[in-house]
Amino acid sequence: MKTLTVRISGPLRASIFLLASMLLSGGCLAESESGDAKGTSSTVLITGANRGIGLELARQYAADGWQVIGTARKPDEAEALRESGAEVMQLDVTDQASVERLASDLGDRAIDLLINNAGILPRMGSLDEVDFDDYNRVLAVNTVGPVRVTRALLPNLKAGDGKTIVNVTSVLGSIERNTGGGFYGYRESKAALNMFTRSLASDLGPHGFVCIVIHPGWVRTDMGGTSAPVLPRDSAAGIRRVVGGLSHEDNGTYWTFEGEALPW
Ligand code: NDP
Repeated sequence: MKTLTVRISGPLRASIFLLASMLLSGGCLAESESGDAKGTSSTVLITGANRGIGLELARQYAADGWQVIGTARKPDEAEALRESGAEVMQLDVTDQASVERLASDLGDRAIDLLINNAGILPRMGSLDEVDFDDYNRVLAVNTVGPVRVTRALLPNLKAGDGKTIVNVTSVLGSIERNTGGGFYGYRESKAALNMFTRSLASDLGPHGFVCIVIHPGWVRTDMGGTSAPVLPRDSAAGIRRVVGGLSHEDNGTYWTFEGEALPW
């Protein structure tokens, strides 16, 4: 879908894309926001969906008529996710066997939208505080995890009409915006995730894919803490708005949940 030829930034851009997606048919995910016209709904797979932003995304997509596959490390404890209407599947993104089991259980099922959301934030504010086990772990979850999952589910994504991969990053992964330092390990993990996404965009764009990274805001979750100004429902709604308005021209871009472009 090529809706605009001029670059418009800010919330206005997301609003225009949303409006355009409601008016036009024949695009990426835009026409399937509420399931497609044939009554068969689109499928989204969200990692780390048992709490926080992932859970809220699962709730909202399910309420909008999508088939939602929400993953959890401990499915038996993912009551809220199950209550959202999502299908719960086990996944630890650091465990190759777990990733392969997920792919095997999915079989040839088509997935329109993959949201690599699972992430961790170790508290390593200064170089002195760097713990190398934590450092390796944050890279394993935030960077290598999305690589493992995306590679394993690529056949399912190729079988889908949506062909959209959304990697949940952070503004802390922006090299240009890093004037404050700190957040050791986490910043690097998200900067590397951003780079992975640009490579994916180059490789998969010619095959009809749209691959982006999005910063969900500073969100009131276990990770974001109680002082965070953005509620999970508003973050998830913003992410959904941006994703619903994506066109092929957006392949390889870096967004905020409010629809603004971030510098790499
Ligand atoms: P939460 O801490 O609330 O939730 C994290 C989720 O990731 C949980 O479902 C958790 O599962 C899952 N997870 C952690 N490790 C693994 C693993 N090895 N395999 C599979 N799942 C795992 O975080 P948020 O909801 O706040 O964050 C979601 C995403 O948004 C993350 O990528 C984060 O970096 C990003 N983000 C968040 C911000 C914020 O302010 N909250 C700001 C910027 C970015 P379990 O319950 O089993 O631990």
